[in-house]
Amino acid sequence: MLTDYHIHLRPDDLDATAAERFTSANVERYREAAEERGIAELGVSEHIHRFQQALEVWQHPFWRAYAVDDLDDYCRFVREETDLRLGIEADFVPGAEDRMANLLDARDFDYVVGSVHFLRDASVDMEDYTVWSGAHSPEDVWQRYFQTLGEAARSGLFDILAHPDLVKVWGIERPRPEGDLRRYYELAMDGIAESGIAVEVSTAGLRKGAQELYPAPAFLEMCLEAGAPVALSSDAHRPEDIGADYDAALELLQSLGVGELCVFERRARRLEPIGAGVR
Ligand SMILES: [Zn+2]
Ligand SMILES: [Zn+2]
Repeated sequence: MLTDYHIHLRPDDLDATAAERFTSANVERYREAAEERGIAELGVSEHIHRFQQALEVWQHPFWRAYAVDDLDDYCRFVREETDLRLGIEADFVPGAEDRMANLLDARDFDYVVGSVHFLRDASVDMEDYTVWSGAHSPEDVWQRYFQTLGEAARSGLFDILAHPDLVKVWGIERPRPEGDLRRYYELAMDGIAESGIAVEVSTAGLRKGAQELYPAPAFLEMCLEAGAPVALSSDAHRPEDIGADYDAALELLQSLGVGELCVFERRARRLEPIGAGVR
């Protein structure tokens, strides 16, 4: 069985409204694309910052600008008008763990995708609020990113750790630290091992400056040694990207001996063989 759990029903701009995109007709376009690619298990994980309730957790100016929609309307739509698994992509906000837990526990999600998009108030992957413009060296940004990623795993708030080495998103535009990067990956490993969180293999990095899968093979190898199961996703923001580049992801998984993927239901996890659905 193939999964795509980290998908968005709309692009990230504010013009893509809930009224227009949270519709059965739009979901049907995603379903059709998934069927064509042999993906049976499809779940949606909209960004938490698109919902008003996110401001109960964090008051970042970026979130204030984007928190337009009602989270419970979204949950109701997915449950009642679609056959998609109900997920959400939630940020790790250090110091706001209790508030985030309250928001997440009050809804019947099938799974929660946990992301590190920010280091304190600075963004890892957006030009606005970017962490890269200040006096921070790549070494400093990478160290803080992977420490925070480990804390996100350890928080217990999330079922899946999203795009685990997102810090490389810009590719050659923002230089990486020199040498063997495992010294950075290591900073997240205790949190990943102790939490038992699933690690996402995401093809989105291939569509960004990074031009690579998330995570790098060496990172994934360390996660597997730490006992982490794998969740497979495209992070599609449009139907065309559902299951994009899955052949590359499946090749990596096969090379590392991964034969099973995580499937989630009401925040319970089981493993299913990748099996004959591969194409
Ligand atoms: Zn993300
Ligand atoms: Zn996403």
